[in-house]
Amino acid sequence: MNPTWDFETLAIHAGQEPNPVTGDVTVPIHQTSTYIQDGVGGMRSGYEYSRSGNPTRTALEECLAALESSPITRPDGTGDGSDDGAHSESRQATVALAFASGLAAEDTLIRAVAKPGDHVILGNDAYGGTYRLVAQVLNRWGITHSVVSLQDLAAVEAAITRETTLIWCETPSNPLLNITDIQKVAALAHSHNVRLVVDNTFASPYLQQPLGLGADLVVHSTTKYLGGHSDVVGGALITRHAELAEKLRYHQNAMGAISGPFDSWLVLRGAKTLGVRMDRHCDNAAAVANMLSEHKAVEQVFYPGLVDHEGYELAQSQMRRAGGMVSFRVKGGESAALKVCESTKLFTLAESLGGVESLIEHPAKMTHASAAGSDLEVPNDLVRLSVGIEHVNDLLDDLEQALNA
Ligand code: PLP
Repeated sequence: MNPTWDFETLAIHAGQEPNPVTGDVTVPIHQTSTYIQDGVGGMRSGYEYSRSGNPTRTALEECLAALESSPITRPDGTGDGSDDGAHSESRQATVALAFASGLAAEDTLIRAVAKPGDHVILGNDAYGGTYRLVAQVLNRWGITHSVVSLQDLAAVEAAITRETTLIWCETPSNPLLNITDIQKVAALAHSHNVRLVVDNTFASPYLQQPLGLGADLVVHSTTKYLGGHSDVVGGALITRHAELAEKLRYHQNAMGAISGPFDSWLVLRGAKTLGVRMDRHCDNAAAVANMLSEHKAVEQVFYPGLVDHEGYELAQSQMRRAGGMVSFRVKGGESAALKVCESTKLFTLAESLGGVESLIEHPAKMTHASAAGSDLEVPNDLVRLSVGIEHVNDLLDDLEQALNA
């Protein structure tokens, strides 16, 4: 791999050099569970058993590691403040591991890094399943948690205890699109010997690279933008800390929630077009956010690309563009929001996000139902859009008719 390659080139080639024997231009699906040994313990190819490693998964892991450590250039030609000068060195140190789902990656991470009695700080706007994992599953194994606004650094610092191991940050967050200052929270975490995890699912590595901004770990639901076609469920962990990478690799094998060969192949194929897809997602989302901001049936729009969004300046400085997710509150409360969700014809009513097709959902009753009654409860008049890459006029027309239904 050429260390000077840029994002779009890495997406197509990193970890994907043609096989010298067969000359495959794309990485094949290595659908095998085990590998021949030349004598007991003598691995011919470096692979032994497909839970421990599989060539298709290796290709995906190498590609994801490269994508999370290539420099970002924004449309105005400026960078993101990450360590561009050292990027080829940091790229070599970056390790990615692929899992069966985003939640499998999260579970492996927390159980690898934390022990009973440890404490995790969660942002007060986050994917409901992450909250459920920490508050309803890992709590039974002695992990405690606090929920704070990650926009309030004093509150984050006040929540840190001697047992705090991780600060868990989504930026942009799900579903309210809050933006957290990764550099500042990383500095705060490190001053207390705490690790910062950034769930980079909403931004994707094309728009934001948290490791370059000081995060210790990146989490992805590759089900979303990385896969990009709503046809696979997967997850990933990425880090530059060698010791941490080894610990995670050990747990990936020991816990077994790995990405299978076909799923790895689908995510790898999706990742090739991430850059071009994200640019269209951003164009369309910006147009949708602008239209909604002026619509009389809409109470409030959440999109970090709108100048009146609280995190606008920060998003400008740490992201390439503002992303493809838009949320909005509908005038008339929950029943009006549900009506909009059920009235679109092109936006499909469904959970998930990040695919080429546009989706609409009601977070309080769908993706975030598990956060009901908690500090992460979302407003019941909120609608979340995953803006796809269809023609923008068709998307705007569909929303217009649904809002007027
Ligand atoms: N993180 C975020 C931001 C998500 O939106 C999701 C799923 O919606 C997850 C993690 C969990 O990923 P998965 O559904 O692949 O387990």
